[in-house]
Order: sequence, then structure tokens, then C-alpha cells
Amino acid sequence: MPNSTQTTARILDGKAIAKEIQKELKVDVTKFTKETGIVPKLAAVLVGEDPASQVYVRNKQLACERVGMLSELHRLPSDTTTETLLGWVQRLNADSATSGILVQLPVPKQIEELRVLDAIDWRKDVDAFHPYNVGLLSQGRPRFLPCTPYGVVQILYRSQLPTSGKKVCVIGRSDIVGKPLASMLVQRTSPLGPEWANATVTICHSRTPNLADVTRDADILVAAIGQPEFVRAAMVKPGATVIDVGINRVGDRLVGDVAFAEVAQVAGAITPVPGGVGPLTVTMLLSNTMIAARLQLEQN
Ligand code: NAD
Repeated sequence: MPNSTQTTARILDGKAIAKEIQKELKVDVTKFTKETGIVPKLAAVLVGEDPASQVYVRNKQLACERVGMLSELHRLPSDTTTETLLGWVQRLNADSATSGILVQLPVPKQIEELRVLDAIDWRKDVDAFHPYNVGLLSQGRPRFLPCTPYGVVQILYRSQLPTSGKKVCVIGRSDIVGKPLASMLVQRTSPLGPEWANATVTICHSRTPNLADVTRDADILVAAIGQPEFVRAAMVKPGATVIDVGINRVGDRLVGDVAFAEVAQVAGAITPVPGGVGPLTVTMLLSNTMIAARLQLEQN
């Protein structure tokens, strides 16, 4: 854990929030299974031997077990072709016992990633990467919310830090974090209510000039950049809430995109790395698997 003894900011404990949500989910899963006889199941497909991906998938499986869901891992060799992977996706789409499908990213270079993600049945798309789910989110009527952005909003919600009427700056425009988070926060409402929507959102990226001028104007600053300790104290408005999505390995340490020790002197609230957004990403995946199981029941 980062050194919290010198901080003035409130530390937003993602681990504790994730635990709380998982406890609620376990109650939901138990009730659903009792009523329907169905145990929600997450099927993960892992291509290759990337060590970080292996850890992520393992954590997702363990989390499934904790809330009473089933999980299944399909390991494919690193020279798998797009066609072979598409075959797996089609089999899992057709399998009535599979509630949610997750293809762990990144996939090896020879695989056409978008073709694979587009092939996942949108009703089983627990990562919410399918263009149909992205479109629904953009129109403000999502079925699934992408896990990391939803995790960020859950942290704000459970810490009683509303976004309505606030200036939010998101640094990073990826399809996984930055863009969908911005898309969620500008809506009129969210599954957590209108207080956790209705923000005035600015998205910054690698071509944004005078970045610090923009970030210093934000009431809530979210860093999703992938550069260790990029956000410094001088980029943060005093009292702002700072959410650090970054996970960067520096030697044997994991650090975020925010220089935690110095920013915590300025910010009003801040997430640590590790123990901030990360545990929420896994938790919202479970929440989406529960939604997927319900959705398939509705449509059968
Ligand atoms: P990405 O590489 O797809 O996108 C990074 C974004 O940062 C880009 O849009 C780029 O324009 C922007 N950027 C890069 N350099 C910049 C600069 N100098 N100034 C302004 N903007 C800049 O990354 P991603 O997939 O969105 O992930 C971002 C970080 O979040 C990574 O560290 C990743 O490991 C982490 N991550 C964490 C979780 C989690 O569960 N906590 C989930 C997903 C990603």
C-alpha cells in the first residue's frame, strides 16, 4: 500500500467497496439460483502465456467462486488464429449454460481483436465492448456498463461523492476506460441515480495542449493514461477528487498514473494503487455476469 501517513486526502478504499458489493452480489446470486435453478457462469478465454493476463483471469475466477458463480477457463496456445478463436466464441455463444463470455485482452498480434469482440453475443458481453452495447450506453439506455468505468462510478457513489453538476476531467480516450467513462458521466442518469451522472466532462489525451490548465479546473480528475505517476500535485485543484485507474509495473512495484504521495497533499480524496479501482473492475464483471444470466432467462 502507498504510504498514507503523510496524506491529507481522504483515501477511497476500493478493496473495501469491492468487498461490500460482492457481499450484496452473493445474496443476489443465491436468490437467483434458488428461484431459477441456474448458476450464473463466466467463461473466460485466455490466448497465450502473458503473465499479467494469467493473474487477471485467475483473480476473476476466484471472485466468481466467492459470490457463488461458476467459472470456466479455456486456455489456447499463443499461435491461435482468429478463426480458431471465433470458433470458441461461437461455441460459447451457443452454450446455454454460459452466462457471460470474456476474451482476456490483449490477444496476440496475429488475432483480429475487433472481429473476435464483435462476434460475442451482446447478451453475454460482460465486458461491454460489443458495438451494440457501446451504442446503447451512448444513447443512455445501457444493458451492460463497462467494468472499469462502472467501478469508478461505484467508488464515487459509495463514497458519497456525486458527479452531478461537477466538472470531471478524464485523461485518456481508450475504448475500455476513458471514452465509456465520459459517456456514462454525461448522461442524464445512471443505474445509481442522476446524482452519479450529469457531469460536465472533458476528455484529454496525448494531443491535448496545456493539459495541466484543463486538469486543474476539474472537481473530479480521472487518470487512465498508462504512464507511471504522470499526474503531479501541480495538475490538481486543491480539494479535488482524484481517481487513479492506472496500473503500471515499475521494478517490483505497482504504481498508478498519479504521483500518490504528492497529490494526496493537495486532493480532497484519492484512490490508491493497488487497492483502488482494480478490485472494482473484477467486481463489476461479476455484476455484469449476473445481469447476463437474467437477460438470457428473459429472452428464452
Ligand atoms: P490506453 O493505452 O488504451 O490509453 C491511454 C490513453 O492515455 C490514450 O488515450 C492516450 O491518448 C492517453 N495518453 C497517453 N499519454 C498521454 C499524455 N502524455 N497526456 C495525455 N494523455 C495521454 O490505456 P487504457 O487501456 O485506457 O489503460 C490506461 C491505464 O489504466 C493503464 O495503466 C492500464 O493498465 C490501466 N487499467 C486499469 C484497469 C483497472 O482495473 N484498474 C483497467 C483497465 C486499464
